[in-house]
Amino acid sequence: MVRKPLVAGNWKMNGSSASNEKLLDGILAQADSFPAVDVALFPPAVYLQQVQQRLQGTTLAWGTQNLSQFRQGAYTGEISAPMLNDFGCKYVLMGHSERRCLYAEIGLDQLVLDYIIAEKYGAALKEGITPIVCIGESPEEHEQGKTEEVILRLVDIIIEHSGVKALSQAVLAYEPVWAIGTGKSATPEWAQDVHTLMRERIAKHDQATAESVQILYGGSVKGDNASSLFSMPDIDGGLIGGASLDADNFVAICQAAASV
Ligand code: PEP
Repeated sequence: MVRKPLVAGNWKMNGSSASNEKLLDGILAQADSFPAVDVALFPPAVYLQQVQQRLQGTTLAWGTQNLSQFRQGAYTGEISAPMLNDFGCKYVLMGHSERRCLYAEIGLDQLVLDYIIAEKYGAALKEGITPIVCIGESPEEHEQGKTEEVILRLVDIIIEHSGVKALSQAVLAYEPVWAIGTGKSATPEWAQDVHTLMRERIAKHDQATAESVQILYGGSVKGDNASSLFSMPDIDGGLIGGASLDADNFVAICQAAASV
């Protein structure tokens, strides 16, 4: 099955009204150069309206970097899935390792976090927003050979939570923590093996869903390594951090996705 590639730009806590405008201008000016690629931008939530106004009516989509598992109420600082709908979000990121680390600091265990991510996943699906679930092993887990265990644990939990078919409305992003922001990307072969592992696990439940779900790779993707990663059969695009803050770099990655 041919899956449409997706390139997602996670701006993290970067940007200002002025710099966002410049970045959006730069990407939009070149948007014709990556047809047939889904592209989505994830600004800090305070800039959602600015991004919505610029991207509305274009081929680019947008979303936030996190959401609450709850719908409304006394959850200071949180943002709910219905609120994302108010701002036209098509996607939402969840489970990013930077969020995990912050939560871990306040004492939550990784398994508990996986269950919270599954609840956020359900909350997004309920509002028709596509969850992009980040999954990846830490440097320690990588060294201890625990990649498979860590990856499949979350895949299993989200299947248990919402059923396997829900994955056809979702996106998975393999993000090895040791590759994020380090300049040390996983090799295409390593990433391909982990993507295959996820797809095979899903296929045990439902072959058609396994074949259709988009699985992105994230971790130090740049213009110069994007093509080799995206040409792997089970890598359906990328989740891009640092390189999404520069229009030309980000566009080069989108173009790489368009040309494989
Ligand atoms: C990320 O934050 O999801 C990410 C992949 O970052 P970077 O591309 O900078 O490694």
